[in-house]
Amino acid sequence: MKTEALIIGGGVAGLSLACLLAQAGLKCAIVEPNNFPILEREDHSGRTAALMGSSINVLKAIGVWDYIQKNTAPLEIMRIIDDSNPNIEPVQVDFPASEINQENYGHNTPNLMLHALLAEKSQKSKNIEIIHGAKLQTINHLTNGVEATLDNGETIMASLIIGADGRNSAVRNLSGIETRTSNYDQSAITLLINHTKSHENISTEHHRTGGPFTTVPMPDTAEAIHQSSVVWVEKTDDAETFMALDKGSLENALQTRTRDALGRITLASTPEAWPLKGIIAEKIIAPRTALIAEAAHVMSPIGAQGLNLSLRDVATLAETLTDAARLGEDIGNELVLNRYAKRRSLDMNSRFYGVDKYNRIVSNNIGFIRDLRRTGLKSLKAIPMLKHLAMEQGLKPTMDEGRLIRGEVL
Ligand SMILES: Cc1cc2nc3c(=O)[nH]c(=O)nc-3n(C[C@H](O)[C@H](O)[C@H](O)COP(=O)(O)OP(=O)(O)OC[C@H]3O[C@@H](n4cnc5c(N)ncnc54)[C@H](O)[C@@H]3O)c2cc1C
Repeated sequence: MKTEALIIGGGVAGLSLACLLAQAGLKCAIVEPNNFPILEREDHSGRTAALMGSSINVLKAIGVWDYIQKNTAPLEIMRIIDDSNPNIEPVQVDFPASEINQENYGHNTPNLMLHALLAEKSQKSKNIEIIHGAKLQTINHLTNGVEATLDNGETIMASLIIGADGRNSAVRNLSGIETRTSNYDQSAITLLINHTKSHENISTEHHRTGGPFTTVPMPDTAEAIHQSSVVWVEKTDDAETFMALDKGSLENALQTRTRDALGRITLASTPEAWPLKGIIAEKIIAPRTALIAEAAHVMSPIGAQGLNLSLRDVATLAETLTDAARLGEDIGNELVLNRYAKRRSLDMNSRFYGVDKYNRIVSNNIGFIRDLRRTGLKSLKAIPMLKHLAMEQGLKPTMDEGRLIRGEVL
């Protein structure tokens, strides 16, 4: 088989890129070992992503946002509670989006539903070829392209190969791209909860000794029951203990952690545990190769940055390749790939190291760091100008000159 862009990995990032390239008239192929989720079956998964304005613009450009929006909830206030010392009163600070002239920080979106919608869209496109049930095995560089062989024996020729194959990326490994890794010894338990009090579109992050415990608003269910998704970070051993609890004991643990702020809590999905790591690729391009999303950077879910950063990679690569194709350039050419790498470098590195540091600070139980954290939060509460500055720096959407991110079309 022959194509222009060969995308390895049909997760949210790989499928989004395929949809954008196909819309711009480029032929692509996606290789994915697993079956895609199916829309009607994926209404209630526990894993969600808080998508910010730039990501929503990308999903609008693909044409899936209108459908999914009904199943999302806006995040109007970020609440941080330092809950790390049970013997003293917790410190609480609210960061309303209105204080930085935004309606909301973004929308909490069910992952599997988004994945299923993108899969449906890709399957309908005449410019996208999907190869299921196969994995990438080798990459051979030829004079004017790459040749990939799959574990089913199939060979694909392309101008460019794109690694969208997640944290253990075969494209990254086969291209000899090194990584830097942080082992946090933490896992995130994700689940959905129903609760009797409204969340009032407030996302609440409780800083506790094992890691942050965050509730993120979801839309009310059909029976007018309030719902939130939970990302609960603990040391890996403790997470395993919580995962082994029966339903009643788990609900009690959730009740304690939310400090009853959401009323009576019941479990609304099967809990899942995700081991957390920080991984950053030393570079995101190699000859006729580009990396996007978790193939390039994996981070703790704290701050809800991962998929947002990934969709900015997707938008930038789609724009760079489309512009090159329109100018008659070879899309796998070194100059074209350099443009992509240059545009992504600052955003990728600053977010990755920022989240890494933040995770270490909020998950730290060393006395003086815990005290410093409380003092920091108290100062933000007491000095409005300082709080405003912190919000401008940390919570305002990234400025990027990219057309898709700004809400324009390719
Ligand atoms: C608990 C948790 C909560 C999170 N919450 C948020 C949030 O609120 N906001 C946010 O922005 N981000 C969040 N994230 C991050 C976000 O979910 C990830 O960044 C995103 O899902 C990664 O997408 P991806 O497409 O890169 O990887 P994946 O979803 O892992 O997709 C990779 C695909 O590649 C395929 N593949 C693997 N190997 C091969 C191979 N050899 N050949 C072919 N295909 C292959 C896999 O089958 C898979 O389908 C969270 C992450 C976690 C763990």
